[in-house]
Amino acid sequence: MISPLDRKLGDVLGGRTAAAFGKAFGMVTVGDLLSHYPRRYAKRGELTALDELPIDETVTIVAEIRTVKERSMASRRGSILEVTISDGRGIVTLTFFNQSWRAKDLKPGMRGIFAGKVGRYKGALQLAHPDYELFPDEEQVGMSGPSAHAWAEAPVPIYPATSTIASWQIAKCVALALDGLDRIEDPVPDHLRERFGVIHFGAALELVHRPKRDGDWKAARDALRLQEAFVLQAALLEQRIVARAVAATARPAAPGGLLERFDAALPFTLTGDQQVVGEDIARDLAAPVPMNRLVQGEVGSGKTLVALRAMLQVADAGGQSALLAPTEVLAAQHLRSIARTLGPDLSARLMPTLLTGQLPAAERKRALLRIVSGQASIVVGTHALLGDQVGFFDLGLVVVDEQHRFGVEQREALRAKGGTPPHVLVLTATPIPRTVAMTVFGDLDVSTISELPAGRAGIESFVVPLADHPGWTNRVWQRAAEEIEKGRQVFVVCPAIDAKHPAEDDGEAPETDDVPAGPTASVEATMQLVAGVEALAGRRIAALHGRMSADEKDAVMQDFAGGRIDLLVSTTVIEVGVDVPNASTMIVLDADRFGVSQLHQLRGRVGRGGVPGLCLFVTSAEQGSTARERVDAVAGTLDGFELAQIDLELRREGDVLGATQSGGRSSLRLLRVVADADLIGEARIAAGELLEEDPILAGHPALREAISRRLDESSREFLAKN
Ligand code: ADP
Ligand code: MG
Repeated sequence: MISPLDRKLGDVLGGRTAAAFGKAFGMVTVGDLLSHYPRRYAKRGELTALDELPIDETVTIVAEIRTVKERSMASRRGSILEVTISDGRGIVTLTFFNQSWRAKDLKPGMRGIFAGKVGRYKGALQLAHPDYELFPDEEQVGMSGPSAHAWAEAPVPIYPATSTIASWQIAKCVALALDGLDRIEDPVPDHLRERFGVIHFGAALELVHRPKRDGDWKAARDALRLQEAFVLQAALLEQRIVARAVAATARPAAPGGLLERFDAALPFTLTGDQQVVGEDIARDLAAPVPMNRLVQGEVGSGKTLVALRAMLQVADAGGQSALLAPTEVLAAQHLRSIARTLGPDLSARLMPTLLTGQLPAAERKRALLRIVSGQASIVVGTHALLGDQVGFFDLGLVVVDEQHRFGVEQREALRAKGGTPPHVLVLTATPIPRTVAMTVFGDLDVSTISELPAGRAGIESFVVPLADHPGWTNRVWQRAAEEIEKGRQVFVVCPAIDAKHPAEDDGEAPETDDVPAGPTASVEATMQLVAGVEALAGRRIAALHGRMSADEKDAVMQDFAGGRIDLLVSTTVIEVGVDVPNASTMIVLDADRFGVSQLHQLRGRVGRGGVPGLCLFVTSAEQGSTARERVDAVAGTLDGFELAQIDLELRREGDVLGATQSGGRSSLRLLRVVADADLIGEARIAAGELLEEDPILAGHPALREAISRRLDESSREFLAKN
């Protein structure tokens, strides 16, 4: 039997209205409409702040009619009806052309809810041809049904609306849908509802849309929020069970094998965390079910080394490993550092091979052959590795470096490449707070490396606030010159390539959108600027950005790594994983254009060897702006976990889960990963208990349906985007 929530919207609202809702909000089913929750609730007694209306935006306001005036137009035939409404703080004029009949409804003293686009006409705010709904006269209401008092008490739901569909039109359609709704089942089982003290799903839907008093919608939201957390966790845990139900080839460690030889030759000892995480991975690889593990750890904490050891274990068991890097530069660098770390003897045996989109045809062919024949035990590449022509002989392990650049879908595509599913290891330096890990990567096991290898010299960070001290730019170049004088190297990072190309062209868009307007420091302009800085005269300076060819980029990176460049002006292409121990200084221009984790990553490029690091965040953002707060926060701490938390707090809710990471962000409506951390944790435990008892949810059909509805929704989103 089809759930009432899965009924087509057209069956309930009629085809035309349903189509309008589909177009405006992407809604298809009754469930979609009913999960379009009010953004807030207005009181009929309470009026909205009219003095803060944003020009050019569509607004919904509750106000009282003050005056109604009709006049004829000077230049054309016809009349204009002008109605002023007020909330006691501000006044807005409603204008209607040739609609004098509206004066019959619109009477001074009446209150109502008005919606339209805010404009300005001769200095006054106005809404031209707004939609409106007047509240019935309180006395009339008293005579014909519910008491006037009850009516005045009821909160008015204000929905996220568009210019074509106003809030109360949504309310009307929701009411239709609610009236036609049969009894619906609650995906949250009775005993859990009792444990959490929340109301039934059916009641919650009614009260979130048609509350009678304030407490109603609060209780409704509590129930719906729990349901969201519970269904999400059940879905993720189930995915986990499914992933573990398929067979994978076990790749146990081989005594006396390549890994042991590698370990014996390591010039340092593993940190405690590297050891623990290494054991987790070794155990996972030895099992006949696919590993799905996320390793998170600070930049430079030795994740790549941990991954390399995993590849060696797989090679010992006869399998190949693929390392997926987010950029060509990084892939090339990984290959070089892997070859170096392995040493000539092991490299000859494992034949680490590069495969990226920009390889010349002959080289590409050779690489493909080595991969398909199984000669190459270690393959490093960008997403070119996901291409159809790339066949592996026996793919045993996929390592994804820097998950935050990589979508779930891509991870899946590579997973599908093995004959039997390969083991998957995901590395990230973006520290992920526990709740986000649970929400986004709930299907992964998480290991954390928090210890840094000994002997790191540390990093000092400073904000250079040009808004307060415009003259400090010179000091920045002075500092750079001093570092170079000491034999060190300097990175200068800009948000844009040139005036026309934001660094987005690198596929490396800043991860935030509340950036100030105005010109942005670019690689091109900065190259010109530093050429004129006297302190830097005679220094070797080069540029690096995503519009250069892979060969050019690679050559520059090699020159920089080899100490043949003193100062490198670049975009965020150098953000992740680039490892040049002699680089001491990171200068980020217009630092406020970057997100918290990007800044943290950039800073991680220096202070990697025994050389103390210096990081200068140059910004013109005003003190107190969010953009500035972000920069200050990063300068204020080196603790990535603390920064991740700050980042979440500074970001707007919707941005918390990047679309590529969440693979279904639309499913989070009321749930907030930070504020609801505890609830998410409890829901996860509850979902785990339930699945333990009933792994296929045979006794919980409503939960089954809710999970598949959730998946449907994410795949619909995914299709819409691609
Ligand atoms: P990550 O990938 O986490 O950024 P890497 O694995 O690239 O870190 O390691 C950073 C640097 O530290 C590399 O040069 C690596 O050889 C070195 N390194 C890794 N583990 C250790 C260790 N236990 N002791 C000393 N140096 C280490
Ligand atoms: Mg790394």
